[in-house]
Amino acid sequence: MSALALGLGATGLSAQIPDFSVQTIDVNQAVQNGATTLVGEKTAIVRATVRLTNDPGTPVFVDGLMRVFVDGEEVDDSPVYTDNGPYQVLVSINEGELDQTMNFTFIPPTSNNVTLSVEVNPAGPNQVPEQTAANNITIKGPLTFIALGRPDMAYAPVDYRLGGGSSPNPPDTALIEPGVGDNFIQGVYPVPDWDYRRIDAPTKLWTSSLNGGGSALNNSLTADLNLMVPKPQYIYGWIPGSLPYNGQSIINGVASMGNTQPIRHQRTFAHEVGHCTGLFHHNGSTGLWGVDVEHHLAITQVLPKIKPPTAKDIMVAGLLSHQAWVYLPNYTGWMSHPKFQPGINAASAGSDEGETLFVAGIWNAVTGQVQMTDMLTLPSGRLSDTAGDGSEIIVRAFAQGQIVRELAVATVSSSDCSDASDSDESSPLVGFNVNLPVRSAAGVPIDQVVIVQGNGRALSSLMLERSANAPRVAFVSPAAAQLDGDVLRVAWEGSDADGDELTYYLRYSRDGVQFSPIHTSTQDTSFTVNMKQLPALVDGQGFFELFATDGLNTTVVRSELLINAPSFAGGGGNPPWAHILTPDAGATLLEGATVILHGMAWDLEDKGLHGARVAWSSDLDGALGTGRRTSRNDLSAGDHVVTLTVTDSDGMVSTDTAAVTIVARDLPDAGTKICQLDLGFGGPGNSTLSMCGGDLSSGTSADLLLTGAAPNASAWLVLSLSAAPMPFKGGTLVPIPVLAAQPHTTSVAGDVLLAGIPGGNGPMSFVLQFAIQDGAQPHGLDFSNAIQADFLP
Ligand SMILES: [Zn+2]
Repeated sequence: MSALALGLGATGLSAQIPDFSVQTIDVNQAVQNGATTLVGEKTAIVRATVRLTNDPGTPVFVDGLMRVFVDGEEVDDSPVYTDNGPYQVLVSINEGELDQTMNFTFIPPTSNNVTLSVEVNPAGPNQVPEQTAANNITIKGPLTFIALGRPDMAYAPVDYRLGGGSSPNPPDTALIEPGVGDNFIQGVYPVPDWDYRRIDAPTKLWTSSLNGGGSALNNSLTADLNLMVPKPQYIYGWIPGSLPYNGQSIINGVASMGNTQPIRHQRTFAHEVGHCTGLFHHNGSTGLWGVDVEHHLAITQVLPKIKPPTAKDIMVAGLLSHQAWVYLPNYTGWMSHPKFQPGINAASAGSDEGETLFVAGIWNAVTGQVQMTDMLTLPSGRLSDTAGDGSEIIVRAFAQGQIVRELAVATVSSSDCSDASDSDESSPLVGFNVNLPVRSAAGVPIDQVVIVQGNGRALSSLMLERSANAPRVAFVSPAAAQLDGDVLRVAWEGSDADGDELTYYLRYSRDGVQFSPIHTSTQDTSFTVNMKQLPALVDGQGFFELFATDGLNTTVVRSELLINAPSFAGGGGNPPWAHILTPDAGATLLEGATVILHGMAWDLEDKGLHGARVAWSSDLDGALGTGRRTSRNDLSAGDHVVTLTVTDSDGMVSTDTAAVTIVARDLPDAGTKICQLDLGFGGPGNSTLSMCGGDLSSGTSADLLLTGAAPNASAWLVLSLSAAPMPFKGGTLVPIPVLAAQPHTTSVAGDVLLAGIPGGNGPMSFVLQFAIQDGAQPHGLDFSNAIQADFLP
């Protein structure tokens, strides 16, 4: 019996010998209060606190092992080794010190039945003497990891040329590319990943001043998003260098913008996106220890992984990146946000709603003046929802005097997010934009749009009416449909019989299906395009498209279908983009610790790349796996160059690399998994018994696991040294004569897990079977199969 410890096999006690047990297990994906919902596929850190009793007075170091079970079966990546073991066990710990807990990093599955088994001081070279191993394993679960989507976030590098001119002024690519610009949103939003990628065009030209605010730019970015096919969920404009404020957004809008000062730009991005999800400013701190699990914010500001409870939420105005993390109401609130639901990305491509009238402006909440910034008919916009009561701006659309649509626009004061670095002062300029129907239900075109004061501050009404004549516009360049070089000047002439000022929106289609805005919200009549920077032309299917608008009249013209001249060799596709998000170059990990491999792969022609098109390798260890996010815990000790290789559908290849050092250490014995002999005889009922792990020789251990039983039910583990099956209470009892019947209770998932049963003291065999109380069975008992456990010396 002593071999089959089952929690009974204590060795002799000694006052000098310490004892270790796992006290708490905290699963953290950004913040955690003990009950915070967990998200599948989002990298998690499990922090276990170890209780030290009989403190010997000298430093003690122990290692650990975590096993991950889904529906009672250990997953392929299990066991997980510690990030930091052997680590020094302290009698009292400071949660703010990452290495005062025993830590495990893993990518959790999406499941409502995940069990974590954390073992302290497991067998192996680093095992230290302790009083008893019987209390070394603690179970956490069953845990639920919910599914969330992967929102598509396009970013526009804004070529900010105040007053025009010919000198390009884009932001520093290195500050905004995937793996840098998106580090805060990857860290604090609960979604497991973002499709954070550049717009199709290399930059967005902007020549008017942004000093007083970014509302006009946000309105133009919103028009851009509506001119795209397929459409992302959100668009963000990055401004070169600093501004008098951090950034600006429209609450519940799709567009926002911010500056690229490294001390603040990543947090500003996360903040402005927060406004787009409907959040307002507040002044709360997180109040919890947070963890930047993939350590995204090591770049650019070398910020620590641990975030103190004094960190402010990202929605506190005017912060620098080091001051911010995320507080729970926002973190968990996003889990039910419609734009973060599973499948949202796939759905967005087909969500165009036909023609809409896009109306965008800026309201000065102090003077009451309203000024329009953008107004055009979009071929495939997304109709706006009304914001409801309390809105300060009302937009009404009429057709021949009949009201067709009234929209309340969400623009309470804090929607104008003028995040001065040292104050929470709001600019009086409030941007707004809506997508209205273009005609009434009876088919009568909208001929009047009126903007009036809603519930709040003064607003001088503005009436916009359809003029008699639509703009006339025609392309004048390119003159020929044949392209024989990369650089192309696109030019047009426009006129309006009513004398209205015309505004133009130029977009490009590579194939008549995908559309990319390239110069918009402009009075310019030409734009120079480098075709090599846009999705590659499909011969005879692509074209430029120009929208000329006087307000309520929009005229659309297309260029001829473009073809590459036979002599022009430059017409092929573009190579994909490959970015390693994790690990960072220069990262150092201990041997066996989970190496998260998280990358971004995008292609101008194919869009998002996944699966086998995204491959990971090491110059020391060869192929490591595929997909945007995967992990390994078996990289050999030494200096690795980890390479992400992305291949598009044309076979074009791009790579990114990160040099990573794996530091040698001795690992606990994980053992090859061996399952003990299944003797059968299960039923009635659906329960299954297994015992898998080590070979039950001395120093190994195995887990006895019952699954598929009734939840929260009494269960008896019946033991014998022999098998003599005989009918019993509607089933077959196998362990006879019965040596013992240990009482247990099944979990809510109907499981019993006795983890880490030590081997040794054999040879000796036990026959084991569970009988579980189950009202659904004829005699009220469910019988599991029986197994024979063979203990070795
Ligand atoms: Zn704000």
